[in-house]
Amino acid sequence: MVFVCYEKINHYIFFLYYFIMSGLRNYKTDTPQYKFYKEMHEKVDLAHTLSMRKKYSKYDKCKMTIKKALSMMDDFIDPSDPDLDVPNSIHAYQTAERARKRYPEDKELQIACLIHDLGKVLFSYGEPSYNVVGDTYVLGCKFPDTIVYPETMENNKDYFKYYDICIYEKNCGLENLIISFGHDEYLYGVLKHNKDLHKMTDRTLNMIRYHSLYPWHTGGSYDDFMKKGDEFILKDVLEFNSFDLYSKEDPIEINQSVKDYYDKLLDEYFLGEMEW
Ligand code: FE
Ligand code: FE
Repeated sequence: MVFVCYEKINHYIFFLYYFIMSGLRNYKTDTPQYKFYKEMHEKVDLAHTLSMRKKYSKYDKCKMTIKKALSMMDDFIDPSDPDLDVPNSIHAYQTAERARKRYPEDKELQIACLIHDLGKVLFSYGEPSYNVVGDTYVLGCKFPDTIVYPETMENNKDYFKYYDICIYEKNCGLENLIISFGHDEYLYGVLKHNKDLHKMTDRTLNMIRYHSLYPWHTGGSYDDFMKKGDEFILKDVLEFNSFDLYSKEDPIEINQSVKDYYDKLLDEYFLGEMEW
């Protein structure tokens, strides 16, 4: 009995200590994620985003098949994602498997889930993390508090410039927003540019394009910019997000037969080398 009590007291002391320590670390400024976002929010302003769009608008970086891009994810672990400690190719298969479980007939959705992060090949061109990964946000208007670590936006050159003014009109439509450049926009652009080499439609291309725009799809910001029809994109992106996120928390084993299934599916949906 004495031992039980002693153990209980120890237990409480541990939790009290943990509670105090977590309270002190409220802003979690000592994590790699905080450091990553602090740098991103300082460097990624409107001018930077426009220059990145221009840099990747020619699709002259390389020629490769979608399968080659997928295989490049074997050696890559996303440095910005605290929940993801497996190679990105495993994350790709797991995301697709989640979708397949819910929608076994929707092959295009499964493919979209499989390829959604392949824009991360930007790393192979030597791009720093803030040009490839992380939650995205809209430039040319006020930064909403729904951006992760919103206080770090104050270091952005546009913070005061677009505090009161906004370069967009109400209901201008999602497609007209200038969103911070990363793996979403890059893969979307590649697929649009090579539209004759695959069967993906706008429904799934939009899921890919907006999947990191958390302040919008999860935070509820930027609603004023949506035009009629954008609510369907939001619905699709939110559903896509459930496959993307849950696969990290509830890992699915990826064996050879799973890989073979998607190998065939890619043959069905993609044709030859694309320009990246
Ligand atoms: Fe992603
Ligand atoms: Fe993902």
